[in-house]
Amino acid sequence: MERCNECIRCTVDNCRHHHNTKNYCTLDAIQVGTHEGNPTMDQCTDCKSFNIK
Ligand code: SF4
Repeated sequence: MERCNECIRCTVDNCRHHHNTKNYCTLDAIQVGTHEGNPTMDQCTDCKSFNIK
């Protein structure tokens, strides 16, 4: 079974790093960033490790 990182919960299942059956990331670490100049809410933040399947 594919290993997942239980420290990184994620529901983005169209990312190639998403676990196939569990809502976890399979990477050891991820990069989080923002596309906003002045982020004020969760929608302003992004997983920069996202990679389309
Ligand atoms: S890389 Fe980011 S978006 Fe992709 S599964 Fe991991 S946490 Fe989710």
